[in-house]
Amino acid sequence: MHERSIAELIAARAAGEFSAADITAAYLDRIDAHADTLNALITRTDAAARERAAALDARADGALAGLPIIHKDIFCTKGVKTSCASRMLDNFIAPYNATVVERLHAAGTVTLGKANMDEFAMGSSNENSFYGAVKNPWNLDFVPGGSSGGSAAAVAAGLAPAATGTDTGGSIRQPAAFCGVTGIKPTYGRVSRYGMIAFASSLDQGGCFARSAEDCAHVLTAMAGFDERDSTSVERDVPDYASQLTGDISGLTIGLPREYFAEGLEAGSREVIDAAIDQMKALGANVVEIDMPHTDLAVSTYYVIAPAEASSNLARFDGVRYGYRCADPVDLDDLYTRSRAEGFGPEVQRRIMMGAYVLSAGYYDAYYLKAQKTRRLIAGDFHDAFAKVDLIAAPVTQAPAFPIGEKADDPVAMYLNDVYTLPASLAGVPGMSVPAGFVDGLPVGLQLIAPWFEEGRLLNAAHSYQQATDWHTRRPPGFE
Ligand code: GLN
Repeated sequence: MHERSIAELIAARAAGEFSAADITAAYLDRIDAHADTLNALITRTDAAARERAAALDARADGALAGLPIIHKDIFCTKGVKTSCASRMLDNFIAPYNATVVERLHAAGTVTLGKANMDEFAMGSSNENSFYGAVKNPWNLDFVPGGSSGGSAAAVAAGLAPAATGTDTGGSIRQPAAFCGVTGIKPTYGRVSRYGMIAFASSLDQGGCFARSAEDCAHVLTAMAGFDERDSTSVERDVPDYASQLTGDISGLTIGLPREYFAEGLEAGSREVIDAAIDQMKALGANVVEIDMPHTDLAVSTYYVIAPAEASSNLARFDGVRYGYRCADPVDLDDLYTRSRAEGFGPEVQRRIMMGAYVLSAGYYDAYYLKAQKTRRLIAGDFHDAFAKVDLIAAPVTQAPAFPIGEKADDPVAMYLNDVYTLPASLAGVPGMSVPAGFVDGLPVGLQLIAPWFEEGRLLNAAHSYQQATDWHTRRPPGFE
């Protein structure tokens, strides 16, 4: 069952080969066998999933009717714990569904559970979870990437055909690369942020993981679209992405930014990316080198803007309205201070401090305002590039997954790890990670980046590559 594509699953169910209940049961068996080993899930919703599948079998509708899915625990799910992997929300039962959850539900999906993640989506390794680190199915001593590590690990291990994620600075693309699955971060504003717990509102974007670009196309079509409850969601029609998968990329011009292939890119990963680009050429694409001169500003720009927005967004967790409250506060100050000190983990506290600092009266101009200006320059690099090329190809990361613990005590090393994913986030353009090979048994992802709202072109390029290669079909040993 878990070897079938999403289109095959939907078709087989429609043809009566098996029921939604059968599909759900098969995936719940895989979750029984593997979820604990990977620590991929925070909450399981087995009983609700079985009930939902049975109801769908009685009254089937929706483009994805019967499709099991796992939601990152950042998306509010009505009546189900929504923790954002934080002690702060360990007791929070969401009273409503995020728009993403609602839309996928309307399309007929069956929610199997909530995926582990870095606390409040802050991290690149999934070690910052109140519920413990997630493990990479390709090697249990290695990180799965972050912050959507539970979602990526779950799809890689075949615990669900698809999972949702969010990407603020790389949190879909980087774990997809580390776990050998396909992941797409759409254009900023393409997918509603309503009910998606906010980290950095000008960057946060929901997206999905699946095994292939074709599978992602089916899920994204159901997730995307204007939502009047999200003021930054864009009023623009959503095409049926699957119908745009012609598999033909002949004549497409792909730009390789020199800055992404410079010092820092590890030799083994570079060989994999070079081979992937040769494959794109063989499929008929024209490949040219381009310059994106402000790339090296992305890490410092992002790590000013994202913490600034986070410090503001996370001010709502005060121990009063909802979430964690410290025991026996002596007065209001003590209630605020200890609830936040005890409820947030160390990385979240670090971000709040950085954000409050760069927004403070004395430093606002020097840091926050400056970062807004460099952000504009980085976006300008993409404007200029897309005047010349149809698509950008690059690595997702400098190297494959690293061992658990290796960078845990070195926040700067962890931040530098995001160098190739941050620029597209700052510019708001859509990006993907596509499995492209292995170094020492660990997956390597090819990053593809398209102009604003060209998700169809992006998915089609990935699909064309996947028609010619089989990297995306490999399963980690032990999870076949
Ligand atoms: N790794 C980046 C961070 O720690 C990006 C996280 C994300 O995209 N949510 O902020």
